Amino acid sequence: MAKFALALHGGAGARRSRDYSREVPHMQGLVEAARDRLRAGASALDVVVEVIQGLEDSGLYVAGKGASPNLGGTYELDASLMNGPDRQAGAVAALQGFRSPIAVARLIMEKTPHVMLVGEGAAAFAKTQHAETIGDPAAYYTHAGSGESNHPPGLAHGTVGCVVLDADGRLAAGTSTAGVFNKMPGRVGDAPIIAAGTWADDRVAASGTGQGEYFMRTAACAQISWRMRMGASLPEATKIVLEDIAGLGGEGGLITVDRDGNISTPFNSEGMKRATLSVDGEIRSEVF
Ligand code: ASP
Repeated sequence: MAKFALALHGGAGARRSRDYSREVPHMQGLVEAARDRLRAGASALDVVVEVIQGLEDSGLYVAGKGASPNLGGTYELDASLMNGPDRQAGAVAALQGFRSPIAVARLIMEKTPHVMLVGEGAAAFAKTQHAETIGDPAAYYTHAGSGESNHPPGLAHGTVGCVVLDADGRLAAGTSTAGVFNKMPGRVGDAPIIAAGTWADDRVAASGTGQGEYFMRTAACAQISWRMRMGASLPEATKIVLEDIAGLGGEGGLITVDRDGNISTPFNSEGMKRATLSVDGEIRSEVF
């Protein structure tokens, strides 16, 4: 029987002092819809984009509609996407004015010879592709993570991501974010950096959340695949990578699925909003 599996995250900035009674059922609903799509034969890449758009549009996470501004008062969003079978990838950084950064990342992957576009060039390209714009940023964005902002500057986070193994054995991963709170204008984190915040090949799909600078300094998501190539199991590989991040003083979490449908979602933060669909069809949606 064909097997498929999925994990999503809504950020590792969760705090026990905050109520997640909207996020938990929301994540559960997205996984149920994704399960039906995978059962009907949808590709891992399509499902990753659909799930992330559901997270972006909800306004519940610090990505898409839930974005927070940087220290200069502007909203600069980052996203990336990777397809395991051919390692095609698309990424966008410091994007202003568009509803779905993950959709723009996909357009960059499919319609340009490049992997990554940033800032004004990315926006100009997105316009040529008729990607949906948002109008007035101040009216559109909801600052979803404000209840989690009792962190020191640069330490709060609330990205979204999704990793999928589809029924044809294909893996894909994606990540979308407004970045850490109190970020400097022009700051780009790990979320749009292929190998740091997002990775998918024929072995594993991974998406990170947390203090992106540490995920960049450890090549976190790609390192999981390299570890597995050297013989580590998925849980062993994710544990070592998280220890690498923690060893530098970093905090966050990872969602991963391998080609056998094993799932590993470790984190060293207080919580991580996350939901999973196992190969047995079991769905879990939780924060702590
Ligand atoms: N990793 C993201 C960044 O550094 C933040 C997050 O995970 O919430 O931009």
